[in-house]
Amino acid sequence: MFRLLSIDGRSALDVDGRWYDLARVAGDDALADPMAAVGRFDELHALTDRCRDGHAGPADGPVAGAVLDAPVPRPRQVFAIGLNYADHAAESGMATPPAPLTFTKFPSSIAGPTADVALSGAQVDWEVELVVVIGRPAHRVPADDAWSVVAGLTLGQDISDRTVQLTGVPPQFSLGKSFPAYGPIGPALVSVDAFADPDDIALWCDVGDERMQESRTDQLIFPVATLVAYLSSICPLEPGDLIFTGTPSGVGMGRGRFLAEGDVITSGAEGIGELRNRCTAGRGALL
Ligand code: ZN
Repeated sequence: MFRLLSIDGRSALDVDGRWYDLARVAGDDALADPMAAVGRFDELHALTDRCRDGHAGPADGPVAGAVLDAPVPRPRQVFAIGLNYADHAAESGMATPPAPLTFTKFPSSIAGPTADVALSGAQVDWEVELVVVIGRPAHRVPADDAWSVVAGLTLGQDISDRTVQLTGVPPQFSLGKSFPAYGPIGPALVSVDAFADPDDIALWCDVGDERMQESRTDQLIFPVATLVAYLSSICPLEPGDLIFTGTPSGVGMGRGRFLAEGDVITSGAEGIGELRNRCTAGRGALL
């Protein structure tokens, strides 16, 4: 197993809470770029073992206290799935879709796990989501083989400006979810073999001290393998592509409550870790 981090723009391995610079451990400068590391994820298992066995010299530092960047900082494509939990479709007043309802978060929205979120308006909402990271070129992958092209899993927030998203008919899902830092991910890219069952992972979201969302990914209407098979039947996938898999119930839109300046969003997933994002004052869209 491995946990891939990005620190100061460089790939690092998290080995039992200590981080090791990946290029140094591997003796290969090409692996300094986290995007290159994702495409060579197979090698990260053995390199993690090297660190753990003491063959990589001392760690570069403790993970606690390090400022982490997005583990996949420059995805070529970011897919996101709407209404993929039945309870969230119900709170949205929408029918569950017959095929994965797909939009994009434009890559400029991707940010690190502790990025500040400058609010674009008065109706900005939270959506905790499991995020799949593709690790191999994949076109028309059968569902039975889908996990073999996955480098690992991370956690994301699909932060959503409902005013922009729901302007007009049909709505503007992609733009409403693509302001800067509206896609924080992290804290680590975790290998699939680190999970007892990668199709059943607990995830949650708190705003301040209040638990807003709590579910498990076994509730996904279209699970990870189905999403990879479906998306790759249309779009060739590349290493570093992301799939935000959808959010469970408990979003602000269903509660009549939205994010305010000073709110801290804490998102968590079993076996992955937490994102902590503080909301700050920002600017809205030109309408
Ligand atoms: Zn979402």
